[in-house]
Amino acid sequence: MKTTLWTVDDLTNLSTSYPHITQAAAKLKDNEVVAFPTETVYGLGANAFSDEAVRKIFEAKGRPSDNPLIVHIASQEQLDEFVEHIPEYAIALISHFWPGPLTLVLKKKGEQLSDLVTAGLDTVGVRMPAHPIALALLKEANVPVAAPSANRSGKPSPTQASHVYHDLHGRISGIIDGGSTGVGVESTVIDCTTKIPTILRPGGVTKEQMEEIVGEVHVDRALVEEGHAPKSPGMKYTHYAPNAPVIIVDGSHRFIQQQIDQYEKEGKKVGVLTTEEAENDYRATKVISCGNRSNLQTVAAKLYDVLRQFDQEDVDLIVSESFPQVGVGTAIMNRLLKAAGNQVILEK
Ligand code: AMP
Ligand code: MG
Repeated sequence: MKTTLWTVDDLTNLSTSYPHITQAAAKLKDNEVVAFPTETVYGLGANAFSDEAVRKIFEAKGRPSDNPLIVHIASQEQLDEFVEHIPEYAIALISHFWPGPLTLVLKKKGEQLSDLVTAGLDTVGVRMPAHPIALALLKEANVPVAAPSANRSGKPSPTQASHVYHDLHGRISGIIDGGSTGVGVESTVIDCTTKIPTILRPGGVTKEQMEEIVGEVHVDRALVEEGHAPKSPGMKYTHYAPNAPVIIVDGSHRFIQQQIDQYEKEGKKVGVLTTEEAENDYRATKVISCGNRSNLQTVAAKLYDVLRQFDQEDVDLIVSESFPQVGVGTAIMNRLLKAAGNQVILEK
């Protein structure tokens, strides 16, 4: 299949019919799949009402069929088409964080949504993205669009069109290139079917931010303790993994350097994931800086690109620094721990 690349440089004029957006929306209406930028990562979209279209997402990504997709909408009215009951706290979350990186899991209504979207669950994850291209495309397509991240399943999510092209060219109809995404990690997924909202996946909107609006917010036990099945099916899979294994080393620079030296002595070529503050402190085969530790949003924005950069390097192992689990740091560590298969070396 030929993958069309549409480049959109001018984000100011998207409300009028922009030819690339119209063409991409026509593909969606035709039940084809197209990738598009959102403020979190690039999404791979398909008409959420069509089994035929949604099946193509699972095929292109190699995604397990029991992992439901998030439905993207451009207006709140679209919610009423396929969602049953919206609790009051969810209405408050919507009015504060939409459009934005927050996915609400709500009770599904009717039979219009493809069962493949919800993986047979009676709930559905929905969000309104805050990216002018995504919103223009959704408006033009005029159907809810199911869209997971536009990467091959298990790989780091794409934050640039080139990442999507690398993983999916020849497998999808087209890619809208709108430059780098901003947030860099996926949306927060919050279960709104419980009395108190429960975070199923940490992401772009933090627990602290939501607590300011709705008071108490719970965190799915599977995220904090081992031995519990996650309520969000996708959280059980290995994810975000570059080719070389990742190990998180939590300790002083001196301790981290000792671990690197040990691996290199064993003949392993070590890549190091650090931040601007420490990029000149390490001796290793390759050191890559991922943003600035004093501003964790910059780390989130670059994380997946840096993990993908290591795939271009001749390294046998990636040693990553650890990050504080506050604010967006919770999402960063969630993704890094998944990339590392939970391998952490802690300085005593
Ligand atoms: P991705 O589309 O790759 O960003 O992944 C979407 C995430 O949202 C996965 O972890 C899914 O398991 C989760 N998700 C989507 N819909 C639901 C739902 N109805 N209930 C629980 N988790 C969901
Ligand atoms: Mg994904």
